[in-house]
Amino acid sequence: MSTKTTQKKYCNQPPAVNTKHEEGITENRLGFILSVNKKWVNGTTIKYLFIKGEGNKTQYDVVRKAFKQWKDLGIGLSFIEVTDIDEAMVRIGFDHKDGSWSYVGRDILTISKADRTMNFGWDLNNAYGLTTALHEIGHTLGFQHEHQNFNAGIVWNTEAVYKSFSAPPNNWSKAQIDSNIISKLPPNQMQASKWDAESIMEYEFEPGLVRSPKPYDTAGIYPGGSLSPQDIGAVRSFYPPLKKNDTQTLAYMQSAVLTAKSGKQNDFVFKAPSTRKYTIQTFGDADTLMVVSEKGAKENHYLSGDDDSGFSKNTKVTLPLVKGREYLINVRVMYNGARSGSGIVVS
Ligand SMILES: [Zn+2]
Repeated sequence: MSTKTTQKKYCNQPPAVNTKHEEGITENRLGFILSVNKKWVNGTTIKYLFIKGEGNKTQYDVVRKAFKQWKDLGIGLSFIEVTDIDEAMVRIGFDHKDGSWSYVGRDILTISKADRTMNFGWDLNNAYGLTTALHEIGHTLGFQHEHQNFNAGIVWNTEAVYKSFSAPPNNWSKAQIDSNIISKLPPNQMQASKWDAESIMEYEFEPGLVRSPKPYDTAGIYPGGSLSPQDIGAVRSFYPPLKKNDTQTLAYMQSAVLTAKSGKQNDFVFKAPSTRKYTIQTFGDADTLMVVSEKGAKENHYLSGDDDSGFSKNTKVTLPLVKGREYLINVRVMYNGARSGSGIVVS
């Protein structure tokens, strides 16, 4: 048996924002919503900022390299570093008195501008530093801890887990160990893929912490520390490369059908025929997340969004649009299992 012990510090997540939904919705529908509701719409440009007075260029470069590794997979999300805090969605700090963590996916949008959305609690300038940066960005993209995946089926030796993680270097409380390791995440029907012990979202666990499955009880869990084939498959599935002909033209007062399957997207472009307020809304029973942005020469500018998932209503955005400019309307269909068809219209 190996004599390896938990010597590394691990990501210590803040509590997730609870998903609200109306009562009485089916488990199937809720399962689809929970599996995708923290993800960004594909095509989002995620702007990140390093908090002034923390970290240094060496640390920033590791984080930049990690963003590039995710982007180089060909995904439809983009990452842009900005220096204006009013522009940034992701605010990255390097407070070594705190741990390493990031809020998950669109939870980030609910965090006050005064607060960071990601922190690095240790030096990143080594192999484990790059692993840490890839992991925290994984949370920012909407991925959660792989060992908490409901489908993982891990049976913990809970006493041994408490003992190992309450000791240095992590020194976690029971509540922190529960929320980062022991608690299972809600059943996740989109990522019903089997547990991936090699995932960047997986921690290391020394032998004796897992009772089953085999051989991890005696071998421990030692992921490779880089993006695994399953990580790459998952991120490409949620954020596939953008192709020009995926975008449909939407004309004023002419509705279009939402054809996307649950978890997938319909993307539209609308050219405003005059300068005035328009209302962009979905109709029908589908659960959707709608994001409207203005097309720019270099990047698209987020304008507004709405999310009706888990409620008997529709997404609706009213905005002043400018004659001749083009607007992207990205609709992530969270759940499209309803009997009636759903669509979208600009009026
Ligand atoms: Zn984590």
